[in-house]
Amino acid sequence: MEIEKIKENLIREKENLEKQIKYYQSEDPFLTEDRDMTSTLDDDITENEGHDRITAAKNELVAQLGKLNNALERVYQGTYGICTKCGTQISEERLSVMPTAQLCMDCEKSN
Ligand SMILES: [Zn+2]
Repeated sequence: MEIEKIKENLIREKENLEKQIKYYQSEDPFLTEDRDMTSTLDDDITENEGHDRITAAKNELVAQLGKLNNALERVYQGTYGICTKCGTQISEERLSVMPTAQLCMDCEKSN
């Protein structure tokens, strides 16, 4: 397992996520600067719905970003790929499917 490659992938993924989060932020009707103050009630309802939907999607991305940052942190500390619970080396197969995995398969199951 090449740690440099993993690091690259994690960083690329991170930049990707950050871009998406920024996009969602710019799409959020609550945050746009040209928000129409004289909007009708119908407009407000649409804005609320848009806001909720965007917030949910954004929160999902932010949670993912947190996991990525955590994985990167462990790459830098040299503890990447080691189960944070039992200290076992997590299988490469598992890491290739889920690069941000913090637990080995056994711990994940009993978690
Ligand atoms: Zn474990």
